[in-house]
This record gives sequence, C-alpha cells and structure tokens, in this order.
Amino acid sequence: MSHTPRYRFAPSPTGFFHVGGARTALYNWALAQREGGVFVLRIEDTDESRNSPEWTNGIIDALAWLGIDSSSSQFEGPYFQSDNASKHVAAAHRLYELGHAYWCDLTPEQIQERAKAAGKQGYDGYSRDRGLEPGPGRVLRFRVPEGTTVVRDLVRGDVEFDNTTIEDFVLLRGNGSPMFLLANVVDDIDMNITNVVRAEEHLPNTPKQQLLWQALGHEPPVWAHVPVLVNEQRKKLSKRRDKVALEQYKDEGILAEAMVNYLMTLGWAPHGDTEIVPWSTIVEQFRLEDVNHSPAFFDVKKLQAFNGEYIRALSLPQFINACSPWLMAEDVSWNASQFKPKVFAAVAELIQTRVVMLSEVSTMVDFLFLDAPIVDEQAFTKTFTADFARPMLEHCRDAYATINWTHEDLKAHLDALAEELQVKLGKLQAPLRVAITGRTIGPPLFESLEVLGREQTLRRIDAALLRTV
Ligand code: GLU
Repeated sequence: MSHTPRYRFAPSPTGFFHVGGARTALYNWALAQREGGVFVLRIEDTDESRNSPEWTNGIIDALAWLGIDSSSSQFEGPYFQSDNASKHVAAAHRLYELGHAYWCDLTPEQIQERAKAAGKQGYDGYSRDRGLEPGPGRVLRFRVPEGTTVVRDLVRGDVEFDNTTIEDFVLLRGNGSPMFLLANVVDDIDMNITNVVRAEEHLPNTPKQQLLWQALGHEPPVWAHVPVLVNEQRKKLSKRRDKVALEQYKDEGILAEAMVNYLMTLGWAPHGDTEIVPWSTIVEQFRLEDVNHSPAFFDVKKLQAFNGEYIRALSLPQFINACSPWLMAEDVSWNASQFKPKVFAAVAELIQTRVVMLSEVSTMVDFLFLDAPIVDEQAFTKTFTADFARPMLEHCRDAYATINWTHEDLKAHLDALAEELQVKLGKLQAPLRVAITGRTIGPPLFESLEVLGREQTLRRIDAALLRTV
C-alpha cells in the first residue's frame, strides 16, 4: 500500500453540486494538503439514467471555484467510474473464485415470499450452498462471513456491526452489471485510496464495503463519516425544500473564500476565538477527530455574516472588481450606457460596509444611474404619511438650491431642521431617502446626495412633492 495518504472525492453527477458535497470535498482537500497527500477526484457516473455531462462540468467548475486546484501536484483526476466497468466485473468474478460469492436465481418475489414465511426481512442466504453456476438472470451475491465487523471511523469512533444483520448483498445484477457498492470499493482499491472521508449517509454501507476490501485481499482504508447538514427545522437539507446548490450562492455573490471558510466550520471550529480564518490556518488545524458527531446546521444567515466580513476585508479596488459581474449583469435596471464607473467608485466604499452579498449592490446604487429612482410604493406611502414629510421636503428644496454641495453641509442643514421640528434625524431622513433613491434602505444619504449632484437631487425632490399632492 502506498505511504502517501490518498484521499478522494467521489461525487455522482446527478444534479446541482450540493453544499454538503462541497464540504466533503474541502475536508478531503484540507487533509491531503496538510499531510502531503493526494486528492483524487473520481466521478461516479455509472447510473446512466441519472447522469449528465453537464453535472460533471458543474462539479469540476465548483471545485475550481472553491480553490481545489486541478493543476496542483496534489490533485489527481478526474477519473470516471464508467471507465472501470470491466475491473468491477472482474473483481466480482474473483470473489466468486475465492469462494466469497455465489450465484442465486431467486426472483425478488420469491425472496419476499421466503421472508414472509420466516417472519424476517430481506434475503435469507437460500442459495449459499446450492452451488449454482452462472446463468441468465442469476445474480452474484457476497457471502457475508460470520462474526462482527468493526468500522474504525475517525469521526464516530469504532462502530460495530453484527454480521448477522448484514444480508448476502448483490455484487452483479441479473444482467451482469456491477452494483454501486462493489464499483466504489474496486475503484478505491485500484486508486490506492488510503482514506475515505464522506457523508454519514454512507455509513450503513461501510461494513459491507469493508468486508469487500478484506475479501479482495486489502487492508481497508481509514474511514470517516461526516455529519449531515440540516436546515433550521433540523431536517436534512433537501433539494426540494432548501437552497442546496453551491452555484446559487455563488450567483448571489457569496465569495468563494467566505463559502470555504463557512463550510469548514460546519461540524468543526478553528482554534481560538474567531471562526473567520484563512485557508492556511484551516489546513494547519483541521482534524477529523475534532469533527462533531451531531448534524450541522447550515445557517444561511451565518454564511451571509461570514461573507460580509470577507467583503469588508477586500481592498477597495478588489471590492469594485468583485462587484463588476453584478453591475454588468443583464438584469440590472439601467442601460449599459447609463452606468458610470467613476460614480460607482465614488460610493463603493459606502456600499462595501453595508452588504453581505454582492447581488445586493446593484439595487443599492441603481438610483445613481437612472434618470429617476425606481420607487418602492410601499416605502413611499409609509414615509410620506408623516406630517412633517412634505414641509421638510419643501424646506430642503429651497435650502439645497443654494447650499454648499458637500455631504457635511447637506447633513448640517437637516440636523438643524430636526432640532427645530423636534424629530429624530433618522425619521426626517426617511422621506428624503425615498424621494432620492426610491427605497428606505441604501448607502448613507448625504454622501449619496453629494455624488448624485444638486440638479438631480432637486429634480427628485420636485417629483416626490408632485406625487404627494
Ligand atoms: N458517489 C457517492 C455519492 O455521491 C459517494 C460515495 C463515496 O464517497 O464513497 O454519494
């Protein structure tokens, strides 16, 4: 067996790349990096009815986005399980020749009838000693030995399985095709895998797979089954109920570094008092032995909070650059010719402190590029019902026509007015903000006005006053 630790990530390309898969991949990558080992990517594409090349590309792109660099000397693959089909079949025949497997001709109905008659579930080993030869429709079953199987798991400790609870499972179907359990083990052996780190849902299969490793004459790998991810209701994350596709988060403007850091903290925590740590610290500190057994809550709010921290840690040019895809997207409300990079650059710092996702940026700044703001009617009704709204806007209209156009002076004027009217500045600002930006939340108001300019500001106040008559 190889002395270099060999980890692997073995996704099935049957759908969008799941955040749980991303975490498993990162766990493997972190360990391979720390231990000077290898990360093998194997695409388990043998379920033809559910596979598509599009999902395979999605996996490769997602790994690259997460920083799992396929050009690294520690990365190997991708390998495709389907390329190994003949090895899977050959291994099954070898097991038969070694006496670890036997042919069985019972139909599922017959198996059920026998189980019913015996008052037990599952297959009862009926064909074990019948000495059947291979034949059409016959399946090849593994002869589970007596005793107990102890799975040494770095996360869960020793997990013991009584072999009487493991039925003689199928290796080759009636049509000769290999079962997934076998293919998975044969590939791991073939690729000299030393460490299998995967989702907890595979644990029930592990004793069967360990028996296969042994029957094929190999020392089983070091196992680790990492806890499932659950939603707020503590239910396992599901495609139908929850937002699980990594790509959706990427599209919303979660930064890769934030996603990576957050995923690593699901079931594990870096030492020290902050969970926000660079990848190099994670690689240094991550141990499977420290991973929690209990399900990990995938908390979107916490992910966003992480992202906010990462956004704020960017330099201003990095932030402007990172926003670019969202500012150039097709769904922005302005025309490409209306967008002014300089205007965006002037407010970027104010935006950077306020967003947790880059997808929020375009609606925060659209008022700067449009001829008139997109007015949120609800916000308008709510803020303009205040009895001070109209007189305040009229007051601003007059004063702002001649005031020195700096955010300090613009604010000082409203401060004085708040004092005079005995209204809090925030309350007074609300109708002005809606008049100018169309919304109740956004970047700091007076700085925004300064960037927007006197003429546009006055025009928008006039428009709002007309709306309120
Ligand atoms: N292809 C399996 C899956 O995507 C992974 C099996 C394994 O990691 O051993 O669930």
